[in-house]
Amino acid sequence: MHQFDAIAGGWDAVCSESGSHGVLRLTAFRRVERLPGATAPPAHVVTYRCHDGCGGEHRLLMSSEELDWLPIATGFAPHFDLMTGRMAHDPDAGLDLWWRAMRRGRWPVTLACEHHPTPVPAWPSCLRALEPDAEPDGRWFLVHFTCPLCERPGSQVMRPQALELLPRAA
Ligand SMILES: [Zn+2]
Ligand SMILES: [Zn+2]
Repeated sequence: MHQFDAIAGGWDAVCSESGSHGVLRLTAFRRVERLPGATAPPAHVVTYRCHDGCGGEHRLLMSSEELDWLPIATGFAPHFDLMTGRMAHDPDAGLDLWWRAMRRGRWPVTLACEHHPTPVPAWPSCLRALEPDAEPDGRWFLVHFTCPLCERPGSQVMRPQALELLPRAA
């Protein structure tokens, strides 16, 4: 299980070349392949650019739960609990922030499928490939995806900010 760091907005990742630990953000994703076969829930192979380590590409096996659910469900940093006067960890804080953000139309990923008039709420597992204009810091990405509503392939240009897995409630 790859832990999700809600403050950094990415999963824990270890570079297999250098052994250094880093944060795997969505902007480092390069390809997402759903494993063939009738696994339920489905598993995915994520190929990502190792920005924090060797700079090469690595492959990571991730379940749908890790990929789609963990970024939303992971609680935020400990906060000060007024009742007990201690630092407390609220496991529901992250979830609550995401629900508020999603009600405002800010989903983990929002896609523009040409077959629908409005933006399509989506998840990291809907992405198929990310092509940045430059490495390591892309200013924009050509994103290929599978639409979760009509299951047709699509492509769009996205800014890195649109690929941040951080809820914005305000
Ligand atoms: Zn590496
Ligand atoms: Zn669609």
